[in-house]
Amino acid sequence: MIALIEAQKRIDEAVKRLPPASVPLLQAVGCHVSEDIIAPINVPNFSSSSMDGIALRFSDLEGDGPWRLPIQEVITAGNLSQAALKDMHAIKIMTGAPLIEGADTVIPIENVTVESNQVIIKNRPTRGDFVRSLGDDIVKGQLIFSKDTILKPIDVGVLASIGLTDVKVVPKPTIALLSTGSEIVEPGKKLKPGQIYGSNDTVLHAMLAYDRCRFSGQRRLSPDDLDVLRETIRECLEDHDLVISTGGVSMGDFDLIPEAVRKLGGNVLFHKAAVKPGKPIFVAAFDGRWFVGLPGNPVSVVVSYHLYVRRIISRLTGVESKPRSASAILTDDITVEDDRFYFVGARLEETANGIAAVPAVRQMSGRLSSICGINGLIMVEGGVRTIGKNARVNVEWII
Ligand code: AMP
Ligand code: MG
Repeated sequence: MIALIEAQKRIDEAVKRLPPASVPLLQAVGCHVSEDIIAPINVPNFSSSSMDGIALRFSDLEGDGPWRLPIQEVITAGNLSQAALKDMHAIKIMTGAPLIEGADTVIPIENVTVESNQVIIKNRPTRGDFVRSLGDDIVKGQLIFSKDTILKPIDVGVLASIGLTDVKVVPKPTIALLSTGSEIVEPGKKLKPGQIYGSNDTVLHAMLAYDRCRFSGQRRLSPDDLDVLRETIRECLEDHDLVISTGGVSMGDFDLIPEAVRKLGGNVLFHKAAVKPGKPIFVAAFDGRWFVGLPGNPVSVVVSYHLYVRRIISRLTGVESKPRSASAILTDDITVEDDRFYFVGARLEETANGIAAVPAVRQMSGRLSSICGINGLIMVEGGVRTIGKNARVNVEWII
């Protein structure tokens, strides 16, 4: 059994960034760009009007107004005029429509009067008004994002605006979930005596979605059978960077995950950490792919996901994800029952006196409902004792 800090250090040292890959824009949000991105085109790549209005040649407005110019044609967005602007003429133009050759100024439609096929202009505009020039937004050859920028939702829109559908990034890992345990049944099916509904994969799937991770959708279920486990793990590893299992990593005769993983050639990074809940945690490497065996108990799953899975994903993507932490005031006594580093689920609330931590009631690693409604964890050093109401404790937000 190793200390939590040692387990985390081993993860930090062993887990490396995934190789760059081209991914669809939507999958690239939150990822590091793996090369400089240079604009291949001007945006817009023609000069256009930025208003619905009248386009004209500024120098045609001689002397004092008002001026009256015939409307030569109407140009709508997406349509190019073949003709050039005639002397002493104007065109009606829509926002985003290409400017006709010879026109250099636009007057918004609300500032002119249109009568039959003529426009009456009372006030002289400024030359170049409301003209979006070629490359006004982005100039061809311009550096859009330098290598290692982390893409945000708006950024992928910018990439769409230069015509890209995919972008080369350090991708998010593809993840498979594997529930193990001969007693586990998928919700929706009928329970037989001795069986329970599996909830771990639902929690993990929801946490991954919350973390905007790329879950492949593959949720597998295996009984405590060495051969079936081994085959299922092998299949999961075939097309996933990270396989997260629950159950079967503890001390029982049928906790077969470590054996199955060793037999498949996995290199064990650690097995068991001095943490409560969540002692039976198992992490192994398969040549750049990762296997994380979480405990079966649902509360341990939540704590271990926060402590290890998030850290592994952060190392794989290179995107730091330091949890938000604070010192909080306990609203109730908590009892530490062990020498292991201790976690208690808590509802963290901002109050006028700082952060209050409302500890979960009746927390036990097998009682998922005992941590219903928590958004954080109280984290205290091991050592049997009671920590009283109003004491200060370190907390971390988990959601
Ligand atoms: P194990 O780590 O396999 O010894 O499992 C510890 C406890 O967690 C047992 O009571 C299991 O029945 C329970 N458990 C294991 N997997 C799940 C799951 N997917 N959903 C809910 N409980 C589970
Ligand atoms: Mg089990």
